[in-house]
This record gives sequence, C-alpha cells and structure tokens, in this order.
Amino acid sequence: RKVLIAGGSGFIGSVLKQQLQKHGFETCIVSRMPRPDSITWDDLNQNGIPDGTDAVINVAGQNVLDPMRRWTPGFKQNVIASRVHTNQMLVKVINQCDSQQKPKVFASISGVGYYRPDAIQIYDENSTGGDHDFLSKLCTDWEKASKVGDDHTRNVTVRSGIVLGKNGGIIQQMYPLFFLGLGAKIDSGTQHMPWIHIEDICNIFIQALRNEKFTGVINAVAPEIVTNEQFTKTFARLLRRPSFLFIPAQIIEFIFSSERAVMMTQGQKVISKRMEELGVQIKYPTIEEALKNILK
Ligand code: NDP
Repeated sequence: RKVLIAGGSGFIGSVLKQQLQKHGFETCIVSRMPRPDSITWDDLNQNGIPDGTDAVINVAGQNVLDPMRRWTPGFKQNVIASRVHTNQMLVKVINQCDSQQKPKVFASISGVGYYRPDAIQIYDENSTGGDHDFLSKLCTDWEKASKVGDDHTRNVTVRSGIVLGKNGGIIQQMYPLFFLGLGAKIDSGTQHMPWIHIEDICNIFIQALRNEKFTGVINAVAPEIVTNEQFTKTFARLLRRPSFLFIPAQIIEFIFSSERAVMMTQGQKVISKRMEELGVQIKYPTIEEALKNILK
C-alpha cells in the first residue's frame, strides 16, 4: 500500500511519514526540492501520480506565522498558492488516472481558523464559517480545491487545531522563550486555543486511509478545550519556569500584522463530533498529558 504525501518533509508530514511506515505503508513525498524517496511538483505535473499509489495526503503549506517574513501581497500569494494550488495540482493528477488506477483516498489538511473567533459559541463540523477574514477564506478555498468530485476517490478534510509536537510548530517556536522563563500569555489569555497532539492527528490521517466511514470534514481537536492562558501556565509549570508575563495584542499585531495575528490574539471553541461518531481514540486528551509527553 503506497501513500503519496505532499509536504511530507514538514513538521506534520515527517511524523506522518514515520507513522505510516510503522503501520506498513510505503511512502513517497512530493517536495519542491529533489530528495531521496520523493518526487518534485514538476515530476508530478509531467508524469502524474506514481504507479500503484493507493492514497494521497496533502500537508503542504508555507508557514503563515514565520516572523521573518513580512505580510506582503507576495507572501500572502505564497501562503495561498502553497495550499490551494498544491491541492488543485493533486486533484488534477488524480483525475488524470484511469478509474481503476485512481487512489482510493485524498486527504488534505485545513485549519480551525475556518470558524469565526468567539468566546462562547461552540463549533463543530456542521457549523458555518469560512467567510469572515483572510485566513477563513483561505480555508474555504483550500478545502474547495481538494474536492476530487469522483466516486473512485474518497475525500477527507482534516480541519486541524494547533498541532503540538517536538520538532516544529508552535512548541518549537515558543520553547526558547519558555525555557528562558519568558513564557507569556498573549494579551488577556482568555482566547480559546483548539489543539491536538501530533501523534493524534497522524492517527486520524492513517485511520482515514483505512476506514471508508471517514469522509468529508473532520475537526482534528483534542477534547479538552483550553485558553491561551491555560496553555501558557501548563507549559511553563512543566518546565518549572514562571509565567507571569503577557504580550499585548498590539505587539503581536505589529510583528505579524493584524490579518495573521488573529491566529494568536483570538480563538474559538471547537469540538469534533465526527471524531466521536467515528470512535477515534485520542492518546493525549488533555493539555497536561500532551505537553508532558512532548517536553519529557
Ligand atoms: P511545515 O512548514 O513544517 O511544512 C510544510 C511543508 O510544506 C514543507 O515541508 C514544505 O515542503 C511545504 N511547503 C512550504 N512552503 C511551500 C510552498 N510555498 N509551496 C509548496 N510547498 C511548500 O508545516 P506544518 O507541517 O506545521 O503544517 C503543514 C500544513 O498543515 C500547513 O498547510 C499548515 O497550514 C497546516 N496546519 C498546520 C498546523 C500546525 O499547528 N502546524 C495546524 C493546522 C493546519 P518542501 O520544502 O519539501 O516543498
């Protein structure tokens, strides 16, 4: 069983690749760079999906919260293209396969930024969203671009909370500050922060390949809903560091510009009805358990 992973060199993609191999899948990455066990986007465009590919996963995407990159029209275009165009390309090559050769599943990631930030409202997969700001519209276009529109290939959209893991994402960005005792909540810290442990999201992708009941949108979030302050306090406590500082929203907006600062300064309460219905077992249901595992 062979899986093509676009973005398989990244934080989520590399753990996903390892986990898939552990479960006996063969993997091949799509990358911008020539690498071992991978093909480039040009190869994919010219030669189509490698023979014998049973499933395709897209976890590619330019890092939106790269503090070194200014939020210019050019960078925004990169952010869009690396998600929407990669999905479009994958759908195109999937549709070029003969119906017998078509991968059985196309699973693509998206984000909970789809839902409008709100302190009270609880969102599940049936809630509306995807049209209130740049990032929510990006999620809509990203998800739309992943639709194969064909009975041979099952579509799964994994709408993910912040992914917590060792070698990338928010933990890697924040670890040095927390280690130095400079861990700080963002603004009031009352904004909610939907999250999931990296092993748990990889497990959702793997189950999505195996189980035909996995279709459509699945929110990938841990059951414990936390605020930014609860996350900050737990992170600092487990490192035995103080956490009495806070960063005003204006500073985050100054560094990142307000359009992407919303990812940190605002939040939403998100639950996953679909994970419950599908009986997905979560290995790290609480922020305490997840961070303990990551920081050990
Ligand atoms: P990483 O930045 O670690 O990896 C993403 C991969 O995408 C890279 O390895 C890179 O592969 C590829 N990529 C980067 N820029 C571009 C580009 N301009 N064009 C094409 N490909 C590009 O990201 P994560 O693993 O953290 O996230 C993966 C995806 O999941 C992203 O789309 C992200 O928005 C989404 N997501 C992530 C969350 C998180 O908390 N990390 C939460 C919710 C969603 P290569 O260099 O090999 O081409």
